Amino acid sequence: MSHYWSAVVHGLTPYVPGEQPKLANLVKLNTNENPYGPSPKVLEAVRAEAADTLRLYPDPNSDRLRAGIAAYHGVAADQVFVGNGSDEVLAHAFVALLKHDKPILFPDITYSFYPVYCGLYEIAHRGIPLTDSFEIRVDDYLVPNGGVIFPNPNAPTGRLLALGEVERLLAGTPDSVVVIDEAYIDFGGESAMGLIARYPQLLVVRTLSKSHALAGLRVGYAIGQPHLIEALNRVKDSFNSYPLDRFAQAGALASMEDHTYFEEICAKVARTRTRLVADMEALGFEVLPSGANFILARHPAHEGAELAARLRERSIIVRHFRKPARIEPFLRITIGTDAQCDTLVEALKALC
Ligand SMILES: *Cc1c(COP(=O)(O)O)cnc(C)c1O
Repeated sequence: MSHYWSAVVHGLTPYVPGEQPKLANLVKLNTNENPYGPSPKVLEAVRAEAADTLRLYPDPNSDRLRAGIAAYHGVAADQVFVGNGSDEVLAHAFVALLKHDKPILFPDITYSFYPVYCGLYEIAHRGIPLTDSFEIRVDDYLVPNGGVIFPNPNAPTGRLLALGEVERLLAGTPDSVVVIDEAYIDFGGESAMGLIARYPQLLVVRTLSKSHALAGLRVGYAIGQPHLIEALNRVKDSFNSYPLDRFAQAGALASMEDHTYFEEICAKVARTRTRLVADMEALGFEVLPSGANFILARHPAHEGAELAARLRERSIIVRHFRKPARIEPFLRITIGTDAQCDTLVEALKALC
């Protein structure tokens, strides 16, 4: 019955999210969630919203939340855009800022939602190969383009691009928008936020899903100069005026205000990452340097798909990508608690 479909739907290749198995007692290291819960203040704020006021629409512009985000980053509220997860913020950025005649550029190995949005919104794009060591080479992006987008640290490689290189990219591409997706920056990288005042084409995107342990609340945001934010608002108000419900606005604000809490859990995850990398290297794994809450690792003697299947038999779920071919031998492993990572290492000892 697909003749009922719009023409664009026939050509879509949708994003495939990591599995959310319904089983209990899994060691779930496949979707980069935070192993720690959110701040108790977030839970309190969310509970307080379970009230008669739910009959009323939420604030369409999330003013209090945007003020809280602006205060945390030291910018003005009109430099902040919020959305239903950073996926929605990114989607709006593709339509609002990255749809031009020239193709946009992003790494050939990167967040697989980017090509999906290009398909949905019919945006020309070109994948720029990472180096042999899976790094972004800025010079490759200093060519005529309709925009540039990549995560920093990149996903699923975990590799960080130094802030000086981000700035060199901005200095070299004054005429097109550069979107830096900082979904994982709180786990140890240097943010590009400080460059926003000097670069009118820079949009920095964040999510509360990973570092704030709020994947279930669906809140993301973007910061840039007001002219970029206005473009995002025009798209938002042509799509859904109320993207954040009352729970999301209240919980996210409490999380931004209790920033020492999420900064601490991020530091804890980063310490566990150091331990896990050492343990896996001792087992013979090659682990890419990671600035994120996950690592990309391969074993010279074992296939990625095979290892993922054997781990699953032991109730440990990690992510394996069949494509692109260059990462096919690797496993992407989310950093869990120390105990979860120890369970993983014990299982790998038996398998490798
Ligand atoms: C997880 C992730 C997102 C999406 O985050 P949500 O806010 O949960 O939609 C965006 N970009 C990258 C690179 C991610 O890994």
